[in-house]
Amino acid sequence: MTLGQSRKQRSLSHKSALFVLAACLLLVGVEAWREVIARYDTVSHARQDAASTAKLLLQHAENTIAGAERAVSALAAALQKRPPSMWSGTLPEFMKAPQVGRASPDMPPPPFEGMGERHPEILMVFDARGRLIAASAPTRETMVGRLAPLAFSYHTTSTSTGSFFSAPVAVGMGSDVAVSISRRLDESDGTFGGMVVALLPQRYFTDFFDQLELHAVKGVLLQTTDGDPIGWIGDKPGSSQTGSLGTILAEQGSGARYTIAPSTGANAELTATLVGGGYPLAVTVELRQDAVLGSWMMGAKQRFVVTLFALLLLALLGFRLMEQVERRQRSEEQLARKEAEFRLLAEGASDVVERYSFTGERLYVSPAIERLTGFTPEERLGQNAFEIIHTEDAVLVREAAGRLERDESEQETVSFRVQHKDGREIWLESSFRRASGNVSVIGVTRDVTERKQAEQQLAFLARVDGLTGLGNRRALDAVLAREVETSRDSGRSLSLLLIDVDRFKRFNDDYGHLAGDAALRAIADIVNAAARPGTDLAARYGGEEMALLVPGLDLMQARVIGQELCRRVQAIAIPHERNAPWGVLTISIGVAAIDNRTPLDLQSAEWLINSADLALYDAKSQGRNQLVVQAALPVQRLAG
Ligand code: GH3
Ligand code: MG
Ligand code: MG
Repeated sequence: MTLGQSRKQRSLSHKSALFVLAACLLLVGVEAWREVIARYDTVSHARQDAASTAKLLLQHAENTIAGAERAVSALAAALQKRPPSMWSGTLPEFMKAPQVGRASPDMPPPPFEGMGERHPEILMVFDARGRLIAASAPTRETMVGRLAPLAFSYHTTSTSTGSFFSAPVAVGMGSDVAVSISRRLDESDGTFGGMVVALLPQRYFTDFFDQLELHAVKGVLLQTTDGDPIGWIGDKPGSSQTGSLGTILAEQGSGARYTIAPSTGANAELTATLVGGGYPLAVTVELRQDAVLGSWMMGAKQRFVVTLFALLLLALLGFRLMEQVERRQRSEEQLARKEAEFRLLAEGASDVVERYSFTGERLYVSPAIERLTGFTPEERLGQNAFEIIHTEDAVLVREAAGRLERDESEQETVSFRVQHKDGREIWLESSFRRASGNVSVIGVTRDVTERKQAEQQLAFLARVDGLTGLGNRRALDAVLAREVETSRDSGRSLSLLLIDVDRFKRFNDDYGHLAGDAALRAIADIVNAAARPGTDLAARYGGEEMALLVPGLDLMQARVIGQELCRRVQAIAIPHERNAPWGVLTISIGVAAIDNRTPLDLQSAEWLINSADLALYDAKSQGRNQLVVQAALPVQRLAG
């Protein structure tokens, strides 16, 4: 592996790792964002609920105070119609018979109209010196003692006849708080004559809060807009007490009503503060975090687990992907290395190394091709492997390629002829194997022209007689078998001439063996000259016996040829004293033929040779230097 490749691989796996990381981060980001949105939705819904609750509570508090205000106003109006001396002690009857009082226009209207069961616990009347002179119920000393001074100090210093809403004051033990609504009473001369006070303890408000059974609420606080707490349940939401005296109530029915005050403090997002328009009151509702966010939290936990699982899965998949990328890269590098090795070997080899597709398309040719065929690798790459092969050999090569393609063999070796660039025909031998990957074939090719020529030479020598240059007995047997077959199939006649030199034993004796050999060669030349090239076969059949096979010629035509042979041998006049009456070398010939009149069961090489041999025997016994055709046909005698 080169440095560049390893760097490339590292950078690729870095990229994959970054990709997986980015995907994980994206997943986490999207999930986190979704949770933020879900939480925000939950909280804002909860705050709306809190604001609605606050509105309900505020309305109730306003109704309570309005009821008290009406009661105070009614009582004050009723008392003002009487002299101050009659103010004390009148209250119990006034309070006891609201229905009766209602019947008379003189009597004040029932003080608690429109308030349902909510009415001030106590209505009290004080004289000009601040002494309690009448009360609707027994009063507690501490309550009166602490609350009355606020109203008293206000009414003695102000001539206003409006209702005074006092700041909340701690009454009794612990955190007990009460507010009061009061009105000034005038003497007949208009000086301060006393006051009517309605007392509203904290529980007038908080009992109602409790009745509502607010589930998700952590705490509710009713306070004045100055920040003085009037009543609360649960954990008292954060507030600051300024200790103001109180405030004169405006006329009822003023337009703008409730406004939401901005929330502050630790639990601000779950707190809603509503400020009333009619009275200087504000209600703060603080929700319980667990109640509001509980279900979201549970869902979020489940989604967190799912996300975690998805993250793990993603990371795992990413890891596998990275592994696969690396593995593929490694195998590609290995392949490239193998290819380089293959090329190195191929380029250095003296044999030609080639790679083909199964259709014969050349994919690679090593440089040795030029030494073998004269063509350059580039020229060869364009040529189909099958097309340049000699047509006689192409069949064998295609068959071998087919066996490889069908996986019937591992390796095939074939020899074939191609044309060298210079025009020569050369023999090549290729060994083919399927290449790894099974889509191509690797071939190693060498030049076997010399070997092929040697083989052909050997084959030639194996069929030729050394002395005469004619075909030998083996060649005759092979050709004869083939021709007999052909004539049997086609009905074409096949004639055989058997030739024997006359009294040759004596010739050897008289002129020597070497002269005998020379004479045999001379006769062989004459026989060979009579053979039609490519069709007939002249062969040396035995010692001084020769044969001429003439396919396609019948007995008569063969006889003509044979007679001509006898004449020519005699004509070259090789002296042979003891071959009377001619004194020169002569030959005798027996002729036989297979044709369409020959019985089928006789049509064989043996029968043909035997028949010719019999005819030859006849020729000898009838005096030599003559031709005899086979016994089945009329015997012709060649005279003189
Ligand atoms: P016939 O007329 O009856 O044929 O008499 P023949 O003497 O020719 O008798 P035969 O055919 O039996 O004799 C063949 C002789 O041919 C025997 C042998 O000496 C001679 N001969 C066979 N082969 C060769 C050879 O290769 N060279 C030489 N010089 N003589 C051979
Ligand atoms: Mg003989
Ligand atoms: Mg002889």
